[in-house]
Amino acid sequence: MARRHVGLPYKELLQMPSSNINNIGTRSLLPTRYFLYFLMTDPAELHTASLVIDTHADTPQRFVDEGWNFTDPLGTGMLNLASAQAGNLAAEFLAIWVEPEAWRGRFVYRTLQLIDATLEQVRKHPGQLRLGLTPADIVQAHKDKIFCILMGIEGGHSIEADLGLLRLYHQLGIRYMTLTWTNTNEWADSSGDLDDPTITHHDGLTVFGRSVIREMNRLGMMVDVSHVSDKTFWDVLQTTHAPIIASHSSARSLTDTPRNLTDEQLRAVATNNGVVMVNFYPSFIDENWRTAWNATKADREPLYKAAAAPYIDRGEPVPYGSALAVDRKFYAERLAAHMPLAPLSALIDHFDHIAKVAGIDHVGIGSDFDGFAILPAGISSAADLPKITAALVERGYTPEQLKKLLGGNLLRVFADVQAEAAKE
Ligand SMILES: [Zn+2]
Repeated sequence: MARRHVGLPYKELLQMPSSNINNIGTRSLLPTRYFLYFLMTDPAELHTASLVIDTHADTPQRFVDEGWNFTDPLGTGMLNLASAQAGNLAAEFLAIWVEPEAWRGRFVYRTLQLIDATLEQVRKHPGQLRLGLTPADIVQAHKDKIFCILMGIEGGHSIEADLGLLRLYHQLGIRYMTLTWTNTNEWADSSGDLDDPTITHHDGLTVFGRSVIREMNRLGMMVDVSHVSDKTFWDVLQTTHAPIIASHSSARSLTDTPRNLTDEQLRAVATNNGVVMVNFYPSFIDENWRTAWNATKADREPLYKAAAAPYIDRGEPVPYGSALAVDRKFYAERLAAHMPLAPLSALIDHFDHIAKVAGIDHVGIGSDFDGFAILPAGISSAADLPKITAALVERGYTPEQLKKLLGGNLLRVFADVQAEAAKE
């Protein structure tokens, strides 16, 4: 749909005599219903009036590795308290992610270190941050104008094939678990290493893997299928009694990476009454960007190695921030001149596609802030979230639909998961 009359502020449009509105000349191109929504919907007001939830940010590593606080200025990051407030973000699920190579043999230690650092942020800033454990906590914090922090574990290797650890993480406040990261673990295949012959795969979930799903159902912990292999995805749907989430995945029919969900999978999540949260990573939302960025991999590899070398020499784990710094510099110095940022419209296309294929009740925001280095055009932090609402209004989404997408759908799934736990 072409952007023509919506360049006018909506208040101006409202004040116009109807003969002038007819003269704008686009009315006949649009269904009247959509035209009326344009007139009645101020995207900024709609965004501010909505409860906005994001289900994936990799920020906790900054607390530990950089001694950075959530209330500090952004620095090189994409999410902090000020940007969340500016973007009317009410709640964030912070990813407790353990890099599997750097922390081999010490997964539990690193998991606990990241959980502790996140809980410490909440403890140190009681007037500004609050830990969320239930959907009601998110709603209450929003009413109290306090930012709600929730925690999800990214990568089932953190439980070291032990249901006891899963239960203890739940006690500490973990409310979802992404079953794998890019690494296959003892009980679930990842999409990230399926072509690696040195890895033992399981053809999806093992028998123990199925018991992990059932224990998560019993605990009321959301099952997250982002990163898993297609076979694991289908095994999860066969096993779970509760709706699932994909905390940070986009649509594969638009951008062809195994990290995204196929249309068949999108429809299956809808049947399960779950929700797919759109990832902002340019390689997952823009096929041109994905191809061009992948083509530079061989040039980037030695730079990652050089950045990691001082840590390795000191016998220290390499912080993830070192690779992000390489990517930022590489893009700025070597690519930016001829490779523009992924357009915002590419990101909006994924929201639109998932809303059309799975339905408006099954789509949401899973930014992956701080999990990669370069965002799409127009988005530099959580402060830019209102631009997504504005772009979707422009495509004809109604206030009721957008409230679902911005947070309502995730609240529904979270509540369903906890209701199922109460039954089990
Ligand atoms: Zn991830």
